Amino acid sequence: MDLGIRGKRALVCASSKGLGRGCAEALAEAGVDLVMNARGAEALEAAAAAIRARHGVSVTAVAADITTEAGRRAVLAAAGSVDILVTNAGGPPPGLWSDWTRDDFIKALDGNMLTPIALMQALLPGMIDRGWGRVVNITSQAVKAPIGVLGLSNSARAGLTGFVAGTARQVAGKGVTINNLLPGVHDTDRAVSLDAGVARAQGLTPAEARTAREATIPAGRYGTAEEFGAACAFLCSQYAGFMVGQNILLDGGAINTTL
Ligand code: NAP
Repeated sequence: MDLGIRGKRALVCASSKGLGRGCAEALAEAGVDLVMNARGAEALEAAAAAIRARHGVSVTAVAADITTEAGRRAVLAAAGSVDILVTNAGGPPPGLWSDWTRDDFIKALDGNMLTPIALMQALLPGMIDRGWGRVVNITSQAVKAPIGVLGLSNSARAGLTGFVAGTARQVAGKGVTINNLLPGVHDTDRAVSLDAGVARAQGLTPAEARTAREATIPAGRYGTAEEFGAACAFLCSQYAGFMVGQNILLDGGAINTTL
């Protein structure tokens, strides 16, 4: 399917691996030129080279921590004006509600709420001036149903979701949509590391921990970065211009809700 965005330019944050990489791949497949970002230069350059070779689009790679002011400055300087913004960063660590300090919360808010907001504030004006834009924020299923051990994530992502709900309606009339994609469990390094933590705590092997978690998902498996990226590319397409301020859950049916 031609998504109608060939030749557009996208900034995909935190995209050398995992879900961000899936989004970068799917946008490149749709003919979108990319600015990719991650902290580790080696994996980032390898991902950029693979995408250039596979899809023939232009890819600029910027190794920087997107959750810092300096990192965002470097990424935004390289990006210039973009038509599509995909926000993403690593998730906060698991833990217990009673242990988190003010500093822990500030770090989580910086990474998963204030960073995407700062990127939107920087790039929405250009999209509005040009009369077309797409923003997709990678958040979490924790927005719909809290995950006890990920209280830092529950908190920060709820804040971002509130900001998007209000802002999406203010920019929709200018041809710019903002939506959130809510991953359930996906087969990425993050999921593997969370499984390893559960395995240690419960005296299981990582494979046993994974099997137990898969049994809680009606689809009976983890999602893939490819599936996730395809959903992101659709939200960025010409056909998704009437989708405004939505929170799209990709979780294999894991969260048991009617709406
Ligand atoms: P992942 O496989 O660990 O990949 C994370 C990617 O982000 C890597 O490319 C990493 O590269 C980059 N990154 C991490 N921190 C960064 C930073 N501060 N600045 C720039 N790049 C950064 O993680 P994932 O599973 O794709 O998860 C992506 C997001 O979705 C996270 O916020 C996670 O909490 C959320 N999520 C994931 C799942 C899941 O099951 N996978 C479920 C719900 C929510 P470097 O390390 O080199 O920077």
